[in-house]
Amino acid sequence: MRLVSPANILSIVISLAVISLAAVGLGETSRRHKAADGNLWGLDRFRGGGLIRGPCARRACIALTFDDGPEHSTTPRVLDELDRRGVRATFFVVGRRFDGDGPIAERNREVLRDVWRRGHMVGNHTYTHPLMDRLDERSITREIERTDRVITETLGVRTFLFRAPYGAMQTPAARHAVYSRGLTPVFWAIDTRDWAAHSPEEVLANFRAGLDESPRGGVVLFHDTLPRTTQALPLVFDEIAARNEQRRTRGLPPYEFVGLDELWEPLRPSRAH
Ligand SMILES: [Zn+2]
Repeated sequence: MRLVSPANILSIVISLAVISLAAVGLGETSRRHKAADGNLWGLDRFRGGGLIRGPCARRACIALTFDDGPEHSTTPRVLDELDRRGVRATFFVVGRRFDGDGPIAERNREVLRDVWRRGHMVGNHTYTHPLMDRLDERSITREIERTDRVITETLGVRTFLFRAPYGAMQTPAARHAVYSRGLTPVFWAIDTRDWAAHSPEEVLANFRAGLDESPRGGVVLFHDTLPRTTQALPLVFDEIAARNEQRRTRGLPPYEFVGLDELWEPLRPSRAH
């Protein structure tokens, strides 16, 4: 029987230390790589399901979300305004807008890459934007999987954030299709109803009314495909700044811009299906 000599033990310890250092080094490299891409979000944190209902639970917060893009004629203006304000948001994208060989799809793919490079989160908003509650589970799964594939092909990351078109996932088929894939559905607290508004001022008025109803704030729903929304955004930011001034004078905490991870509730096993 061979005994392990002290010299051998020393060499084993040194080897382990070298391996550990190498592992730390790799970690640093991958973090730097992500930073170079301009995005530090780990979308993996939402894997395994959960729920984001919308309201801010503990303090006053705002989490901006934009649905239905990417749209090359409007989304870049949203991105510029978010950069100007130093705010990161989440974009729920519709797969058919950026899938395939057409020139529009290619432009929209480039916009989506820009969304990610500028540090925003990306979520799945189905492939054709159907009312899922009217579909069987196979069709819903296909809608989700096609968009999952095209997001992964375009960005090289997989997302577990999901928003149902119209917020509708009432049927067992819809719920099972979403939760069995480990997705985290995201709802909202403030609906700006920008799709029905006729002007940027009306989008702002809807936002103000929403914030009056949900004074703690939470997830705000916009559509980055609408010119009136791109025009309303500066007004919305000014409104939040003005309200924060008022809140400070009244001794209330100001609204903070947060990512969806702040509002994430892990899924309890009993709700899994
Ligand atoms: Zn939508």
